[in-house]
Amino acid sequence: MLRLGLTITNNPPMITVNRLVKDFGYNRVIDGIDATVSTGEVVVLIGASGSGKSTFLRCLNGLETLTSGEILIESTPLERNSKSLKQIRRQVGMVFQQFNLFPHLTVLENIIEAPVHVLHQPKKQVIKVAQELLAKVGLSDKQNCYPGTLSGGQCQRVAIARALAMHPKIMLFDEPTSALDPELVGEVLTVMKQLAEDGMTMVVVTHEMGFAREVADRVIFIDEGKIVEEGPPAQIFGNPQEKRTQAFLGRLS
Ligand code: ADP
Ligand code: MG
Repeated sequence: MLRLGLTITNNPPMITVNRLVKDFGYNRVIDGIDATVSTGEVVVLIGASGSGKSTFLRCLNGLETLTSGEILIESTPLERNSKSLKQIRRQVGMVFQQFNLFPHLTVLENIIEAPVHVLHQPKKQVIKVAQELLAKVGLSDKQNCYPGTLSGGQCQRVAIARALAMHPKIMLFDEPTSALDPELVGEVLTVMKQLAEDGMTMVVVTHEMGFAREVADRVIFIDEGKIVEEGPPAQIFGNPQEKRTQAFLGRLS
């Protein structure tokens, strides 16, 4: 997978968003978003609290009914209540700020739970995959531990391995390091960076601008449910064109 700048946008689209609108009651939270994410592309979403970032990710994962507009995963529309929704949702992994691990299951049991009980894959095979994923996230020695005995950074790495065990085509991250102590942020970002280098299509909401600069192919700034500005990280951080982008980035530094 080529990960060099603009070449990635020549790949076929993995996610297509057309005129997406999402209202909660009278509150228009997503206000006409058009976006395409290419296969293997890493997009970082930035924006103030309440600007609609989480809602947008939840729409991409089929967790919200859309008020209007459409979302395609490859060429299949995400349609609420359609038979294909469940199947497509399995192809879209999501990692949250709160790791949501099952506290009564070991690390290994957390990872194999959905592949065994939802996908009905053979347990032996799933365990092998889970162990490979644990090695990938640097937690081979923790497979029999319970989440309560792990650090936040370790829990988040387990959550990433658990999402990957479903063999997703897309990984969505919603502020995956925001709940972590500062010294634990790096180990999670390292795993995400590796995933990006492996060619995963990723949409990441984060305040980690260092990660965005280094790993993102494209940065999208959202304000009040609209895309205000987007471009390569060097452009968005180095030379933002829009006043609202400048103001947002100015507040961070
Ligand atoms: P962000 O992730 O950028 O902080 P959110 O997508 O969480 O923003 O929220 C955007 C707006 O949508 C906020 O005003 C929030 O209160 C509202 N909102 C989000 N989820 C719901 C919901 N389930 N019901 C009603 N309003 C919601
Ligand atoms: Mg949010």
